Amino acid sequence: MSDARWPNVTVIRHPVVQERLTWARDKKTGVEQFRRLVGQIARLMAFEITRDYPTKDVKVETPIGPCHGVALARGLTLVPILRAGLGMVEGILQLLPSARVGHLGIYRDHDTLQPVTYYNKLPPDIAQTDVIVIDPMLATAGSLTAAIELVKKTGAQGIKVLCLVASPEGIQRLTTEHPNVQIYTAAVDEKLNERGYIVPGLGDAGDRLFGTA
Ligand code: URA
Repeated sequence: MSDARWPNVTVIRHPVVQERLTWARDKKTGVEQFRRLVGQIARLMAFEITRDYPTKDVKVETPIGPCHGVALARGLTLVPILRAGLGMVEGILQLLPSARVGHLGIYRDHDTLQPVTYYNKLPPDIAQTDVIVIDPMLATAGSLTAAIELVKKTGAQGIKVLCLVASPEGIQRLTTEHPNVQIYTAAVDEKLNERGYIVPGLGDAGDRLFGTA
C-alpha cells in the first residue's frame, strides 16, 4: 500500500509481517528470536517487492511433456549497509539464492556530521542488475542517501530501498535527494528523537541483532 504523503513509499501491511514486526519491537524479545524475526520479515518483504519482477519465457520438460514456464529475467544485487543490514540478507537469499551481495560500511563523522565510507565492495556487474539497498532502520537517512549515491555512481538503475521501520524525517530526506528510488518499509513511525533513534521504533537494530547492547 502506498503512503499518501510520499508516492514512492510502499508500506507492506501484510498481517504476517506486522505480527512479526510487533514481536521484534518488543523489548522482551531476546537476540536469538530478534535475529530470526528480522530474517523472516526481510524474506516476506522481498517476496512482496519482487512481485513485478521481469520474467522471460523458458521451456521445461515435465515427466508428462513439454511445458512453458518463466525464469527471472534480470540479475539482482543486495547491498546491505553494515552492520545492521547484514541481519536481513540471509532471509532474502533464501528466496533469491542467486542474488549477488555487495557491502557498504558507512558511518557519520562526529565533527563534520558527514557520512564516511569505510568499506565498499560492490559486484563489478552491478550496473546490469537491479539493486536493493538494505538497512532495517531508515532514521536520519544519512547512510542510506550516501549508499544510494555510491550505487548510482556504478551506473546501476532500478534501485530500491528495503527497511523495516522508517521515520517521516528520513523518508522526506531520502525522497527529496533520490526521488527515483522506491522505498519499501513495514512501518512509518512517529518521529526521530534527539539522538536520532526512531520513536517508538525497535531500539538499536545492530545491537539487538548482534547482542552488543
Ligand atoms: N538505528 C537504529 O538501529 N535504530 C534507530 O532507531 C535509528 C537508527
